[in-house]
Amino acid sequence: MTGAISKTHWHSWCTGALPEGCAQCVQGRKLVLFITGLCPQRCFYCPVSEHKFGHDVVYANEWKIKNPDNPVELFEEARLTEATGAGITGGDPLARVDRCVDYIKRLKEKFGKRFHIHLYTPLKLVTKEKLQKLYAAGLDEIRFHPDLDDELLWPRLTLSRGFNWRIGVEIPAIPGYEEKTRKLISFIAGKVDFFNLNELERSDTKAAHFKLDAMHFVQKGDISYGIRGSSEMALEMITYAKNKGLRAHFCTAKLKDAVQMTNRLRRRSKRAALPFDERTSEGLLVRGCVYLEELAPGVGYREKLKSADRAMLRKLLDKAKSKIKAMVKADIVVDESKPRLLLSPKILKENAKAVKNLGLVPAIVEEYPTVDAFEVEIDFL
Ligand code: SF4
Repeated sequence: MTGAISKTHWHSWCTGALPEGCAQCVQGRKLVLFITGLCPQRCFYCPVSEHKFGHDVVYANEWKIKNPDNPVELFEEARLTEATGAGITGGDPLARVDRCVDYIKRLKEKFGKRFHIHLYTPLKLVTKEKLQKLYAAGLDEIRFHPDLDDELLWPRLTLSRGFNWRIGVEIPAIPGYEEKTRKLISFIAGKVDFFNLNELERSDTKAAHFKLDAMHFVQKGDISYGIRGSSEMALEMITYAKNKGLRAHFCTAKLKDAVQMTNRLRRRSKRAALPFDERTSEGLLVRGCVYLEELAPGVGYREKLKSADRAMLRKLLDKAKSKIKAMVKADIVVDESKPRLLLSPKILKENAKAVKNLGLVPAIVEEYPTVDAFEVEIDFL
């Protein structure tokens, strides 16, 4: 306990029960639905990457949805991660409100009414009509992201009252913004159900990175992206919120990395793993991989993947698979997304020399169980 606030089991702090959206998120059961990169706001700390911000793209977790009118990947990702809910984010989801409405309806139809959906939005595009549409579609929780530097639009969040959903306000804890944050807390107390603060983090996007540097914000350590001073400020602010009678939760960078993400990876790896894959306690996959010489991981690998002639590679992989099968009794899967062959790490280690003699490149790879299969470690045999 720190005064009036208590530490949760998930490296966060709160002054009451967690909002339902957060309770599912910490278990890794909330699918992150990035509904569009369009956003009329320009927050200086915006964490949205350059390849998403300003682009009308849709992602279900890391999975880019090819055709937003038919989001088949969304349902598959929800199934693979055993999601019991989704958090709709962006960009500003209200820039594509009809898409939000459509997806909320589809998710509720597919997974049932209890599939919990929350949505984040700044205030620029909020109207009663849009809120009415979202509510009618079945949205359970709405979280506003007001601009601390411009209070003109703050009263708009009261338009969400009168609907039977939970209303929250969520902002980053910005050191130096104590007075503005207190002002916001005083404004929302009695009007919303909860107040969430996120630890301010260093962003990988160039614009936000430079702005945070220019404002003399410093990363608090090598491991965490959290900004020095943000946690201390957040704890002070949630105590202030509590004294105003407002339920508050402070979500740390560690919660997102060590708890929410790990829990989601563990769930996904259970479902995404092939029978011969090994799984680490963090939910990563350890796989036996065989690459074609011209497309083995190394310098320029990602670029080569983009320009590869998939049909030709498929033929070469099928041929390589037959040759290995002639030598080794093992299940071998052609992975077209990378492209490569996958087989048991143990069997591959035992037969590495023979595989190399075929002009192929064997490796043991530890990677994320996500759709991009991001490699953490590649050990060439
Ligand atoms: S509202 Fe969200 S997406 Fe838009 S600029 Fe701010 S942080 Fe980025």
